Amino acid sequence: MTSQIHQAETIAAIATAIVPQQGSVGIVRLSGASAIAIAQQLFHAPGNQIWESHRILYGYVQPLDSQRVVDEALLLLMKSPRSYTREDVVEFHCHGGIMAVQQVLQLCLEQGARLAQPGEFTLRAFLNGRLDLTQAEGIADLVGARSPQAAQTALMGIRGKLAGAIRQLRSQCLDVLAEIEARVDFADDLPPIDEDKVKEQIQAIRQQVVQILATARQGELLRAGLKVAIIGQPNVGKSSLLNAWSQSDRAIVTSLPGTTRDVVESQLIVGGIPIQVLDTAGIRDSTDTVEKIGIERSLAAAQAADLVLLTLDATTGWTPTEDHLYGQIKHKPHIVVINKVDLIDNGLIDNELIDNELIDNRLTNNRLIDNKDLSALPAFPLAAAIVYTAAAKKLGILKLEAAILTAANTGSLTAANTDIAINQRQAAALVQAQTALAQVEATIVDQLPLDFWTIDLRSAIRALGEVTGEEMTESMLDEIFSRFCIGK
Ligand code: GDP
Repeated sequence: MTSQIHQAETIAAIATAIVPQQGSVGIVRLSGASAIAIAQQLFHAPGNQIWESHRILYGYVQPLDSQRVVDEALLLLMKSPRSYTREDVVEFHCHGGIMAVQQVLQLCLEQGARLAQPGEFTLRAFLNGRLDLTQAEGIADLVGARSPQAAQTALMGIRGKLAGAIRQLRSQCLDVLAEIEARVDFADDLPPIDEDKVKEQIQAIRQQVVQILATARQGELLRAGLKVAIIGQPNVGKSSLLNAWSQSDRAIVTSLPGTTRDVVESQLIVGGIPIQVLDTAGIRDSTDTVEKIGIERSLAAAQAADLVLLTLDATTGWTPTEDHLYGQIKHKPHIVVINKVDLIDNGLIDNELIDNELIDNRLTNNRLIDNKDLSALPAFPLAAAIVYTAAAKKLGILKLEAAILTAANTGSLTAANTDIAINQRQAAALVQAQTALAQVEATIVDQLPLDFWTIDLRSAIRALGEVTGEEMTESMLDEIFSRFCIGK
């Protein structure tokens, strides 16, 4: 998409997801100077209904010059500037599925509207000053959110939490810049600049930038989520583990179609982070060949994952197969899950939890589990954790989740501190701002002339402005808005 847009044009798009036989309502949206005129050509509102802003009309989509009724619909009119784009906006609330919305869209195009580009409604909202860039990005995040916390953070973005924080820092920088420039221009008329004070001000601003930057990892996890692969030999309990996990009351499971063949994908939410579990369950070892394929699939799933749960059966312990699997995945973040600990000794388990310490002690003291010598159990210097579970009894899951969150380096991701969670683009601009501010401090310490202070301070101001879109290039806009869906 090019941001060389012609805002004079009226744009149209289907604003809801279109899936045949699904969705009871589908919305076609028009925005631009001719939106109302186009709608009036298409929509017949019987009786004395008035075409007033922020009013819903009931009627038929039926071109004026035609007898053919395309749909029975509601029409919502929002006159400029009280609309999403700040332009005149009309929405046709049609029947769902594909046909009604596509035909209504087609009629809008025949009446002179142009098909909207991805994100073009939001781009117009931005260009018309209704949203800043972080708010626009928040809208895309909300549409794409996969956990309540991700949605909450996105909403905070839309409501301007990040924008407000950045604008404040930028305005503080501008104040300092004005102070310095006054000294450059009117050196003789003003008292000399208080270097220590300026340095402190810059330091304080930089510290706040660093604090905001620290939310980048959370932002990444909230947006992209975490891919976790459960791998291991057949029968170690991988599917039982996934079952236990997805039935725990902390998990919200949604079944989405899997993208990888032979791998079951489940969506869970743990600690606010959308977790996509890749599971090679269902692969059974009736013959050696099948078993081999199973293990290869396990490894393929592991390669695609951010974190691997290498699962083994406590009663069989560590075998050459685990050795093989471990060799393949040890370079990735992983957790070793020792399952079926109930079969070692039920006494290790109280009602709720598995006593890790007890098992650890037993392993160290006896090295015996179910009469199998576990001295072969290797040390796992690279493993983020070793977790014991009894998946069939739904035990050990809490500890597993805690280990996953620690391994994912989520910090303390809680509802309380997800107000701001920046994305990669914002982080890149903030790193620039931070570097430039550090440079200002160094310039002051080095006693360089005032002109030099302003050069770096200006770069910091520019970088902060890039976050909110006050200073932006066309390519930045293109990149951001092309990631939106059509109709948004
Ligand atoms: P997968 O092939 O790795 O997916 O293994 P499954 O989850 O299908 O489990 C294989 C068998 O082990 C099943 O009969 C399960 O009921 C059993 N099993 C799994 N986890 C446990 C456990 O923690 N304790 C006990 N006693 N049995 C388990």
